[in-house]
Amino acid sequence: MDTVIISPRGARRWRRGHPWIYRSDVEHAHAPAGVVRVEDSHENYLGQALWSPPSEISLRFLTAQDEPVDADWWKDRVAEALALRDPEHLNATGFRVVHAEGDGLPSLTADRYGDVLVVQLLSAGLEAVRDDVLAALEAAVAPKFILLRNDTSVRRHEDLPLTIEEIRGPIPELVQAVEGAVQYLVAPHTGQKTGTFLDQRENRIMMGEIARGKALDLFTYQGLFALQMGKVTESVVAVDSSATALEIAAKNAELNALDNVEWVEANVFDLLREYEREGRRFDTIVLDPPAFARQRSAIDRALRGYKEINLRAMRILAPGGILFSASCSFHVGRDRFFEMLTSAASDSGRRLVLERVVGQCRDHPVVLTIPETGYLKGAVLRSAD
Ligand code: SAH
Repeated sequence: MDTVIISPRGARRWRRGHPWIYRSDVEHAHAPAGVVRVEDSHENYLGQALWSPPSEISLRFLTAQDEPVDADWWKDRVAEALALRDPEHLNATGFRVVHAEGDGLPSLTADRYGDVLVVQLLSAGLEAVRDDVLAALEAAVAPKFILLRNDTSVRRHEDLPLTIEEIRGPIPELVQAVEGAVQYLVAPHTGQKTGTFLDQRENRIMMGEIARGKALDLFTYQGLFALQMGKVTESVVAVDSSATALEIAAKNAELNALDNVEWVEANVFDLLREYEREGRRFDTIVLDPPAFARQRSAIDRALRGYKEINLRAMRILAPGGILFSASCSFHVGRDRFFEMLTSAASDSGRRLVLERVVGQCRDHPVVLTIPETGYLKGAVLRSAD
């Protein structure tokens, strides 16, 4: 096996619990993409890693052990990840099976929607061992269908093509999955991410427990928060700017025999202004915007956007109402998110109680020493005025 030598700074990073080694910390490497041995310049063994020659993140450590990283190794690691999810007791058939670095399997994500497993191989090193990885997923999950959604732009940093491939098909355009009391449809080939946003699953189920009265679901996508709330509330207005997302959302309402959800195609910023002007009030509001800060340089602008929609949502919240507000921007950390909420609350003149602080679903594990594994934060606020 090829050996790659890294700098003392790189070795320190790995010892402190972060698996990424940047190009600037690689001292010597002559190897094709794939699994390599990693040593420091004194020939001390540090572990084995995925080696991605074209990438700024050149190495992603897999293990500190001197063990064969072969087909069986991948099988064991994927089986461990699946066992952590305890699929029999999840009360959901749509869930994340592998959360990359969060599960010690860097650059690999795999999401299951019923019979379909949707996989993303996000580094050149991982792509080089794709047969072992796919065999491991197949052995652990035994899905009827496997789809590679390798059309995500991060693959560009790895010089990898953007493709969608049916590994086991033909895969239906829409597949059905379960989330608590809700049935929903997913479009694995065309849906966002691997089909939908599984990271909010537990928070959606929570809203299905605490929502009441007249509800508003902002940035609804294919309606999953709205459906949970529709089961327990008088009515839901669900808003998104994407007509194609709302088409599936409407099908989802039908599937659940819900006729109290109104789907509105609109820009949330404009609609909130209008609702405020009209004096509309809602007892429950969900605010789940897309990542406004995709880069560090966009943080200030993103915070202004988050504050605007949160402030307006607070203003149209009925007395005693509940606001669930979330942000999935990695670059807007928890502290900044709560500062933004505090500032919006202060400007709104409302007295808001922080009832719960939540994060991403547990099947998207956050490793403390790998901050990049965590990105979603949310707060349940109750108006106390
Ligand atoms: N709440 C959803 C996920 C939302 S993803 C769930 O739990 O599944 C963000 C959504 O916001 C996308 O569907 C996108 O179409 C929509 N969106 C982005 N900008 C918007 C805007 N300005 N107004 C309305 N919708 C917007």
